[in-house]
Amino acid sequence: MILDEDDNNIKIQALSISKVNFKYECPYCFRNSKGRIISKKGKANYHYHGSNEDYTNRTERRSSHCLINNKKNLYIEINDDTMREY
Ligand SMILES: [Zn+2]
Repeated sequence: MILDEDDNNIKIQALSISKVNFKYECPYCFRNSKGRIISKKGKANYHYHGSNEDYTNRTERRSSHCLINNKKNLYIEINDDTMREY
């Protein structure tokens, strides 16, 4: 879910976080029925970033892993709505 966005920055809420990583649903890329990454609307695609075993609420700036749009500064917020996977 996009929390904030302008021409240069985007902030997205993390869906879940585990000991290893957290993930968010990408607003730019999707998967088609064969599992290929596409830019048109399709099935949700997720990007994962390392969590460093830190479950606390915070905002992390990370380099985007997105193949479709990685031009904006990416911020991922881990908040009370982020599911904890222990
Ligand atoms: Zn993406």
